[in-house]
Amino acid sequence: MLGFIKSLQKKPEKRSAIKRKGDFMEIYQPWPVDELTKQAERCSQCGVPFCQTGCPLSNNIPDWLRLAAEGRTQEAYMLSAATNSMPEICGRICPQDKLCEGSCVIEKDFGSVTIGAVEKSLTDEAFNQGWVEPITIGKKRAGSVGIIGAGPAGLAAAERLRRYGYEVHIYDRYDRAGGMLVYGIPEFKLEKDIVARRVERLVASGVTFHLNFEVGVQATMKDLRDKHSAVLIATGTYKARKLSEKGADKNGIVAAMDYLTAANKIGLGDKVAAFADGSLNAKGKNIVVIGGGDTAMDCVRTAIRQDASSVQCLYRRDHANMPGSAMEVQNAMEEGVKFIWLSAPIEFEGDKHITTTVAQKMELGKPRVAKPDENGRQSPSPITNSEFNLATDMVITALGFEAEDLPKNFSAPELKTSPWGTVEIAKNSSATSMDGVFAAGDISRGPSLVVWAIKDGRDAARDIHAFLSKVDDDPIDELGADYFAPIKHGLIDA
Ligand code: FAD
Ligand code: SF4
Ligand code: SF4
Repeated sequence: MLGFIKSLQKKPEKRSAIKRKGDFMEIYQPWPVDELTKQAERCSQCGVPFCQTGCPLSNNIPDWLRLAAEGRTQEAYMLSAATNSMPEICGRICPQDKLCEGSCVIEKDFGSVTIGAVEKSLTDEAFNQGWVEPITIGKKRAGSVGIIGAGPAGLAAAERLRRYGYEVHIYDRYDRAGGMLVYGIPEFKLEKDIVARRVERLVASGVTFHLNFEVGVQATMKDLRDKHSAVLIATGTYKARKLSEKGADKNGIVAAMDYLTAANKIGLGDKVAAFADGSLNAKGKNIVVIGGGDTAMDCVRTAIRQDASSVQCLYRRDHANMPGSAMEVQNAMEEGVKFIWLSAPIEFEGDKHITTTVAQKMELGKPRVAKPDENGRQSPSPITNSEFNLATDMVITALGFEAEDLPKNFSAPELKTSPWGTVEIAKNSSATSMDGVFAAGDISRGPSLVVWAIKDGRDAARDIHAFLSKVDDDPIDELGADYFAPIKHGLIDA
């Protein structure tokens, strides 16, 4: 229990910035099993584990760290998989500094237990060793569930619903399943075969995928509701917030999601006309990315890998107030991205095509002048006569996302939405205003994180099961059949 005093915190090693700039592969090196054991030993097995409170899935972190520390790797994996549908994905891309690790009690003086890296390594090892079993399908139940959206929320819900024994159909307008895991998040954070093997596991369990199927175009909500006993909306948020400054309609100003989707498609071996003609390709260009969140970090780091001449990130607050993961900002700096903090664009110049970004310096704070925003961050205000110019061939805007107009798109005016367009759900349930229609992930929560989408998807499956079976309290289903897998396999005493 005092392992954290004997062993220093160690994070997986990163490939050198020079090497990783030359490809799109993940930047962290895998850990051998003895390293994950050693790092798991650093957990002091707190009676009240704050790490678990910091994890949206309430993972049983100290329990699986103890098993890992004892060298019981398979059991540790099984316990971690009992509460998380994609532990290896969360281990890679959760902003742990803001979640589990940020809540670890030894964080302050000794450096937190590297929970995310242990979780990732356990599941990678489980895949390597063939411990990841096919989904155990429960007794066949009447009724089928239609899920709109094959992102993490939809996939997590599908897994649980199959376990309960329902027929599951997933509809997605993209040609591959995975949502943002495939077309938003770049490969250097999450290689695509990691996502593909999760999808394959669902296919093998009998989940039917209807790809290139856009609800609202190929079917209405009523069509799906007539076909299925229940419907889950897990469509994410894709409407990009736009710039309003003068010249924002010039050629060469592109939205982050268009840019990242093209880059991910190229990585997957697809042909993308807008990449070939240069309009979504940063090669040889002076790039300005506007925004300071994780999407902006993904854009700047993609542009670096596409061999841009220069990559600058314009953000209106300072380094300390950046909303994204601190680790990703650090990675971007190491890779050569230049940050221009406390600056915002005021105009985009050029004939038809952007040639110059005119920006202005900002200052923070002055509480009497500018109140903190809704997240408590200091609000920026412009400094007069502080304009400066940046030579620009391409601007990538990463200003956040909003929900599309689903009641209109799905011909379902009775679907209640918030003023921000997100689908309203009941308190303590995923049920929407339409009978038998549920919602999960970013479309109900607003743009968030993969781990929250997984939690929402799992909760929605539980609510759909309660709706279909009219059972409100089923302890085994509540925990998920897999929770008992380590006991079933005789690996842990009941
Ligand atoms: P999505 O992943 O968006 O999936 C929704 C799916 O619904 C898509 O496949 C879409 O094609 C489909 N769909 C939409 N409309 C329709 C329709 N009408 N008919 C059929 N199908 C439809 N989170 C992290 O935790 N860590 C990160 O590092 C991270 N990086 C990110 C980087 C970027 C660039 C972006 C944009 C987001 C990032 N996020 C990150 C956030 C995370 O990706 C989302 O919170 C998460 O993917 C939401 O999951 P979801 O299932 O709700 O929606
Ligand atoms: Fe931490 Fe995310 Fe894993 Fe939870 S799911 S333990 S927050 S890495
Ligand atoms: Fe272990 Fe840290 Fe969690 Fe305590 S808070 S149980 S030390 S991981």
